[in-house]
Amino acid sequence: MIISRTRKELEIALNKLSEIPGKLALVPTMGNLHQGHLSLLKIAKKKASKTISTIFVNPLQFAPDEDFETYPREENCDILKLVEEGVDLLFAPNVNEMYRQNSKTTINVGGLTDCLCALSRPGFFDGVATVVTKLLLQALPDIAIFGEKDYQQLLVIKRFTTDLDIPVEIIGAPTIREKDGLALSSRNIYLDPKSRSIAPSMFSILSQHASNISNGSDIKKSLKLARQNMHDLGFDKIDYLDLRNSQTLETCSDLKRPSRLFAAAWLGSTRLIDNLTVT
Ligand code: AMP
Repeated sequence: MIISRTRKELEIALNKLSEIPGKLALVPTMGNLHQGHLSLLKIAKKKASKTISTIFVNPLQFAPDEDFETYPREENCDILKLVEEGVDLLFAPNVNEMYRQNSKTTINVGGLTDCLCALSRPGFFDGVATVVTKLLLQALPDIAIFGEKDYQQLLVIKRFTTDLDIPVEIIGAPTIREKDGLALSSRNIYLDPKSRSIAPSMFSILSQHASNISNGSDIKKSLKLARQNMHDLGFDKIDYLDLRNSQTLETCSDLKRPSRLFAAAWLGSTRLIDNLTVT
C-alpha cells in the first residue's frame, strides 16, 4: 500500500494507479478503524479495481467544546488493517496540508442541514461537506462509499455532489453493529462499563418502535414512549428522536414510506447516534 502525506505525493500515487484499468473507489475516514469502516472497504473492493482510503481527523467538523484533541488516533494499527483489506493507497495528510493558512471557503448545504444533528452540532455539516469536497477533488474517484450510520451526512454528501456536478457515484453502506445491536463507532471507547451496558438499548428501542409504527401505532405516541423508554433506561439527554422522510428528512406525521427513525442521545459525556428504516 502506498502512503501519501501530501497533495503532491497523492498526485504521484494516483498517476501510478491510473495505469491499472478499472474504477477507483474512495473511502474517507477519521481513522481508529473498526469493522464498520472495514465493511466500506470491502464494498469498495467489490465495486472497483482500485481503492483509496483516507485518514484525516478534520478540525472543521469539531466544535470548540468537542473532542478534536483527544479523538482516538491509532494510525499504526489502521495501516495494518488497510493493508489486510488490500487497499492500494492511503492518503493521510496533516491539518496544514489539507487547509492552506489563508483558506476562506466552506461548503454549505441548505435544507438537509436545518434539523437533527445540525441543530446540536452547528457547523458540523459545513465541515464535513468541505473536507469531503476537497477529498473528492483531490482523488477524483469514480465511486465513494459512506456509512448509513451517519445517514444525514450521507444525504448531505449526495446533495452537494449532485448540486456541484462532482462526477462521482455516492454509495451508502449498511450500519455494522456489535452483537448486542450497538452501532460500531470510534467513540464507543469513551463509554464506561455502565454506559456501555445501556448503549445497545438505543437500537432495541428504535427497532421496537419502528416495528410498532410500521404496524400502525400512532406515531406521536410511539415517539413519546420511545423517548420515555430511553430516559427510563438511563440515557441522560435526548437531542432528538424523530421519524423523518428518508430522502428529504422532513418530519412525518403519518407513515409515508420511505421513512426512517433517527435518534441522538447522551450517556454521560458521550453522544450516540443511530437510525433505521421503517418498512
Ligand atoms: P468516521 O471515521 O467516523 O468519520 O467514519 C468514516 C465512515 O465510516 C463514514 O462514512 C461513516 O458513516 C462510516 N461508519 C462509521 N461507523 C460505521 C458503522 N458502524 N457501520 C458502517 N459504516 C460506518
